[in-house]
Amino acid sequence: MNVEKKKPNMTIIVPVFNEEQTLTELFYQLDKLRMKLTKLDISFLFINDGSTDNSLQILEDLSNKFKYVKIISFTRNFGHQAAIAAGINFCTDDYAVIIDADLQDPPNEIENLYIKSLEGYDVVHAKRSVRKGETIFKKFTASMFYKFFNYLSDTKIPNNVGDFKLINKKVLNELKKLKEKNKFIRGLIPWTGFKSTFHEYERNKRFAGHTKYNIFKMFKLAIDGSISFSSKIINFFSILSILITSLSFLFGIYLIIYKLIYLNKIIPGFTALITCIIFFSGTILMFLSIIAQYIIRIQVQVKDRPEYVIKKIINL
Ligand code: UDP
Ligand code: MG
Repeated sequence: MNVEKKKPNMTIIVPVFNEEQTLTELFYQLDKLRMKLTKLDISFLFINDGSTDNSLQILEDLSNKFKYVKIISFTRNFGHQAAIAAGINFCTDDYAVIIDADLQDPPNEIENLYIKSLEGYDVVHAKRSVRKGETIFKKFTASMFYKFFNYLSDTKIPNNVGDFKLINKKVLNELKKLKEKNKFIRGLIPWTGFKSTFHEYERNKRFAGHTKYNIFKMFKLAIDGSISFSSKIINFFSILSILITSLSFLFGIYLIIYKLIYLNKIIPGFTALITCIIFFSGTILMFLSIIAQYIIRIQVQVKDRPEYVIKKIINL
C-alpha cells in the first residue's frame, strides 16, 4: 500500500483589532508565503478581538472563499494577549506562528523561522534588529520594560523580542495546560524551557492605521508581566518599608531627646514633620498599590472567569 507521508501543518495565529486597512494586504502576503512553502500545510487563524470596524466582514469574505482561513471572533475586545491565548488553545497543528496583523512583522520571515526550527529548535523568536517607524517614546519605554522585567524575573525574556515567533507542538501542548489569567505570552514561552533560538529581522512601520496599544494597555501588559513572573517587587518594598520605619524610629528618639534637653525652646520641626508625613504617606500608598495589584490578579484568578468569550467560530 502506498501511504503518502502527511505534510507537517502550521497555523499562523493573527490577533486582529480594528485592522480593516491592513487585512487585505496581510492576507495577500500570507497567501504568497503559503504557496511558496509547499512543504507545509498552512492555515491562517485570525482572532477578531472585538473589532468595531469592518475587519470581521473582510475576514468572513476570505473564509468563505478559502477553507484555510479560520476565524475565532470574540464578543468584545479582550486584549492582544487573550487573543493569542485563544489562538494557542485552538491550534492542534505541528507548528504555530504568532504574528501581528499590522505587517510590522513581515510574513515572509515566517519561512526563515521555519528553516531555523529545522535545526532542532522548539521555539524560534523573531528578534527585531531595527524598529522602523516607532516613536522614541515607544522604543524607550519598551527598552526600559525589558531591562526592568529581566531584573525582576528569573525567566529572562530576550531584548527586542515581541510575540512574533514560531513554536512547535511540544510548546503548544504545555501552554494549553496553563490555567493562569492575564497571560504574558512572551514570558510564558521562554518559561516552558524548551530549546530556543533567534532569528533577526527588521521591524517595519505599520502598514496602515495606528497602534492599538494605548498607554493603559501598555501599562497593564508591563504590570502583568512583572507581577506574574516575580515577587521581587514585593520584597523590594518590604525592605524599603522596614528601612524607612527604622529610620523614622531613630528620628523620633532624636526628637524626644532634643525636646527634653532644650525644654523651653520650640522645636523648629514643622518642616521636618510635614516632610515626614508626606514621605511616609507616599511610601505607604505606593506599597499598598503594589499589594492591590497582586490582589486584583488573585481576585481575577479566583473568580475564574474565562479569558475571553467567543461569539463565532468559522472553518475550525
Ligand atoms: N491587538 C489586539 N487587541 C488589542 C490590541 C491589539 O488583538 O486590544 C492586535 C493588533 O490588531 C495587532 C497586534 O495586536 O495585530 C499588535 O498591536 P499593535 O500593532 O497595535 O501594537 P504595537 O505594535 O504598537 O505594540
Ligand atoms: Mg504593531
